[in-house]
This record gives sequence, C-alpha cells and structure tokens, in this order.
Amino acid sequence: MNRDEIKGVWERFCGKNDFRLNPDEEHVEMVIDGLLENEKACGLKLCPCRLRDGSRERDLQLICPCNFKAQDTWRTKGQCWCGLFVKK
Ligand code: SF4
Repeated sequence: MNRDEIKGVWERFCGKNDFRLNPDEEHVEMVIDGLLENEKACGLKLCPCRLRDGSRERDLQLICPCNFKAQDTWRTKGQCWCGLFVKK
C-alpha cells in the first residue's frame, strides 16, 4: 500500500464520524513515515508514537487505526495519541 492509499483508507475510516484526519498535512505525512518504517521492520502498520513490548497482544493494540477514543488524549486534547485523528 502506498502513501496515498493509506491516506485514502484513513479518510474513509473517518467517514461521517465525529473525527477527521489532522488538517496539518505535514503531520499526517510524518505519521505515514513512521507507520511505513514499522511495516518494513515488523510487517505490521503499527502506531509510530507508541512502544512495542514484543508481545503479539500489544502489537494488535498498536495497529493503526487503534481504539483511540479510549485514550486520555482523546478526552483531554480531542485527538489520538499521535494527533493523526482529531475531533471535528
Ligand atoms: S494513536 Fe493515532 S496514529 Fe497511533 S495507532 Fe492510534 S490512531 Fe493510529
């Protein structure tokens, strides 16, 4: 999957929900960079902002998009941990 395809998947994921991609294009591109590096390193599109502990269970929690509405940053800042998805 290339950069545009990844972004397209995320945009469709946002759909009519109460969140959208961060309007800061540079920030989104930076997250894509990290995600692609993780994919190259371990074969999974993992969150670039959080640490793995080597367990399969943890890896599954870090696949992007994650369950970001459960994160404190969603409640306090209105965004996922990496700031990729933000409240409308
Ligand atoms: S915190 Fe944001 S960028 Fe990281 S996996 Fe979750 S949705 Fe993706």
